[in-house]
Order: sequence, then C-alpha cells, then structure tokens
Amino acid sequence: MVVGDFPVEVDTLVVGAGPGGYVAAIRAAQMGQSVTIVDKGNLGGVCLNVGCVPSKALISAGHRYEQANDSEDMGITAENVSVDFSKVQEWKGQVVNKLTGGVEGLLKSNKADIVKGEVYFVDQNTAKIMDDKQSQTYKFKNAIVATGSRPIELKPFPYSDRVLDSTGALELDEIPEKMVVIGGGYIGTELGGAYASFGTEVTILEGTEDILGGFEKGMTQLVKKRLKKKGVDVVTKAMAQGVEETDNGVKVTYEEKGEEKTVEADYLLVTVGRRPNTDEIGLDEMGVEMDDNGLIKIDKQCRTNLDNIYAIGDIVDGPPLAHKASYEGKIAAEAISGEKSEIDYLGIPAVVFSDPELASVGHSEDSAKEAGFEVDASKFPFGANGRALSLNDSEGFVKLITRQSDGLVIGGQVAGPNASDLIAEIGLAVEAGMTAEDLALTIHAHPTLGETVMEAADLAMGMPIHITK
Ligand SMILES: Cc1cc2nc3c(=O)[nH]c(=O)nc-3n(C[C@H](O)[C@H](O)[C@H](O)COP(=O)(O)OP(=O)(O)OC[C@H]3O[C@@H](n4cnc5c(N)ncnc54)[C@H](O)[C@@H]3O)c2cc1C
Repeated sequence: MVVGDFPVEVDTLVVGAGPGGYVAAIRAAQMGQSVTIVDKGNLGGVCLNVGCVPSKALISAGHRYEQANDSEDMGITAENVSVDFSKVQEWKGQVVNKLTGGVEGLLKSNKADIVKGEVYFVDQNTAKIMDDKQSQTYKFKNAIVATGSRPIELKPFPYSDRVLDSTGALELDEIPEKMVVIGGGYIGTELGGAYASFGTEVTILEGTEDILGGFEKGMTQLVKKRLKKKGVDVVTKAMAQGVEETDNGVKVTYEEKGEEKTVEADYLLVTVGRRPNTDEIGLDEMGVEMDDNGLIKIDKQCRTNLDNIYAIGDIVDGPPLAHKASYEGKIAAEAISGEKSEIDYLGIPAVVFSDPELASVGHSEDSAKEAGFEVDASKFPFGANGRALSLNDSEGFVKLITRQSDGLVIGGQVAGPNASDLIAEIGLAVEAGMTAEDLALTIHAHPTLGETVMEAADLAMGMPIHITK
C-alpha cells in the first residue's frame, strides 16, 4: 500500500477476489486495462477458502473412507480403517493453499495489482482502501464490485463454538459423534453427507417438503436413499425453533406435524441461505440501485444504474454459484473494454456434490412444459452402462430434454456417478444448439460414463441400443 494519501489512479478497480473478482481482474488486464484488485480477506474468496473447494475436499476424503469400509461386494474387506481428522484437515488446507497461491500467480502474471484492504466507495470514481494501519484513496474509471455473500444468521440460532455456519463446519478439528443440520439445501446436504461418511450421526431438519429444492423428486429420492444408508435422519416439514447449548453440545427444538420435538448433538450446523455483502461499502450512499434483498440491479452487461460501476457474482440476482460469478466477471471486464458481450444464463449448470451427485442444466421436463415447449424426456439408467457397473456405482440416470419438433436439446439432468462432469456435455449441447442426433452421432469412448449421454440421445431419437423402449 502507498504511504500518504496521494490518490492512486487505475482504469479498473475490482473489489473482492473471489471467483467473480479474480476472473474479472484477469480478463480486464488481458483486455489492456490497468487493474487493481482488492480483498480484505484471502484471494479466492468464499469459493476457494471456505466454500466449493474445501467442502469438496472433505466430501472426497469421506468417500475414500467409506469405500475402504464398504467394498465387500467387490471382494475387498479392510479392518481397522481409521481416520486422522487433523491430517484430513491439513490435506484440505494444502489443496486450498495450492489454489489460492495459483490465483495470486495468475493475477501477478497478468499484471493486475493486488491490494489487501477493505474498500469503501466515496463516489462514482473514488474509493478508500483501508487496512489496519492506513487508508489510501484510489481514483478509478470503472469498478467491478464482487464482494460476495455471507451466511444468514437466524436470531434463535446465534453462531457460537457449537452453533456453526458452513465455515465453522468445514474447520472442525474432530469428527462429531452427532450433528444436527438446519436446512437441507445443497450446502447442508453436502456437509451433512460428508460428516455422515466419516461416521457422524446426522439429522437434517428441512422446513419444506423435500431436501435440495429445485431438483426433481426422482433425483432427490436417490440422495435420500443413500443418506439413509449412511444413517442420516432426514426430517422434512420440520420447523427448527431454538437451540440450547448444553455442557458439551446442543439441544435443538423443532416442530414436526404440530408436535414439538428435540434432538441433541455435539454441533448444530445452520445453512439457511446467504446474504449479499452490499451493505457498509458505500454503494447505497453512491446511489447504486438494489432490490429488497440487497441484490444489486444490473443490465445484461453487469452494469449497475451507474454507468461505470459493474456488479457480479453472489451480489446480483441468479444462482449464487462460483461458475456464474466467473462468467459474469468475464462479461463485465469485456463490457468495460467496449465489447458487446452480454449475459445469457441458458447453459448454466447446477450441481450438488451429494451422494450420488445431482446435476441439471437448461430446462427440466416441468420447466420446459411450463415454458410452452412440447418435449421428450429420454431417460437412460446407469444400470445399463458398463462403466458404471464396473465402478460398482450404477444407481441413477441421465435424462435428456429435447424439443419434440426437431430434437433440439434444451436441457438435461444427471443423477449418478460423476454427474458433476457429465452435465458439461449436455450444457455444451444446450449452448451450441445441438440436437439429439448430434449427440447420438458423437462417438463416445467405451466403456465410459459419458456413453450414457449418447444412449439417452439414441433414446430421444426412438432407437435406443442398450435398453428397450
Ligand atoms: C460451503 C459452501 C460450498 C459451496 N460450494 C459451491 C460449489 O460446489 N460450486 C459452486 O459453484 N459454488 C459453491 N458455493 C458458492 C460459491 O462459493 C459462491 O457462489 C462464490 O464464492 C461467489 O463468488 P463471488 O466472487 O461472488 O464472491 P466471494 O467468493 O464471496 O468473494 C467475495 C470476496 O470479496 C471480499 N470482500 C467483501 N467485501 C469487501 C470489501 N468491502 N473490501 C474488500 N474486499 C471485500 C471478501 O473478502 C471475499 O474474498 C459454495 C459456498 C459455500 C459457502
């Protein structure tokens, strides 16, 4: 940081170095802008430090442990498989550090200036950046705001050593014997499932009719079946009411079917949504328009109502996902450079790293019908796929949603092994305007999980090979 308060001048100031901000900074620098990127925390934001990456590391470690204990079908038995959880955490930390170090290297090699500090906007072209010691004024032509979000804290469940948000749950130094999770969204289901894989007795309390809202029943049922196998108690239509901290744990009260119930555990994890970080940074005072939830209103180029201020990621409308933030980051940086880039969320995937994984892109059967399409939904089961069987992981399906008139692929869902990767092919088909015939005529290596997409396309054309119609 520069000593003294002579303003530093820069073309583009990027606020927040999560997957939105750091991608925006790299793209802006690639397009010839002088760029300063500021973060008050660690490079990589929520995603790399306390979100996507560490949660997936924990999930993978849990799977390894589970598989070591549960491969008898394949003739493999193991005795005394143990977990050193401090080592799991250490390894998880190494994965995070490798990635955040990589982000630093990428920003530097693209000549973006990295500053640690907290940003407060003074006016449309001026911001103060404060660290513990001093404040520095920056003058910018354009700003990209990518300040992300934080967990919502519910009044009856104040966070503490025993009442955790997702960050706290990722950083435990022990495997709890029992854990209660309030909220069966993707974060609660993923983290609850991860600890269940390590042997924790987990109870998930979900207020609505089903966990993983937004995914169809046929998909969530598969997840609930596996959760049950892991010993997880999924209680739906359960309204959590309060928590009492005991000597070494928590007692959670909830209401189910009009009856008050309690459940005790070592920890309570509360995952009931996230709030955008758009307060306390001067945006309101500057006149940036937001909705009632504090989400910033933007146009198709991620521009706010102030023409040199852009906003991306969790602070704008749409699914709060890392890949959406990064996509918007590129659009904003290109728009500042005068390109005509515009957002188009048609092919944005949603993935849950549950067991089995769930993934969806474009239309579901229901949303397509609601939108007025006449569609075919062609479902190919992993049980008829050689690779899935040889992996001993053959539950689930690939479903392709195609327009009846011409076979155009307008969406797809995958529930099963590697759904998170398989969805990319359907996403590409949606994005590129491909038909079922295009997918069916694409030669897929054998034996692979990817063949399920080709087989679903064959089915969409009315000529399935490895199942009967
Ligand atoms: C447990 C968990 C698991 C998740 N898993 C996935 C997943 O598998 N896939 C997926 O796509 N998404 C996942 N997400 C969501 C994903 O992490 C977010 O959507 C993504 O991080 C949003 O990116 P962003 O750039 O908008 O903001 P963030 O990643 O939140 O980054 C914002 C940055 O801005 C900084 N900042 C805030 N205010 C200021 C200020 N005034 N001055 C300076 N800096 C500031 C913060 O320090 C932070 O580093 C997960 C989230 C959680 C919590």
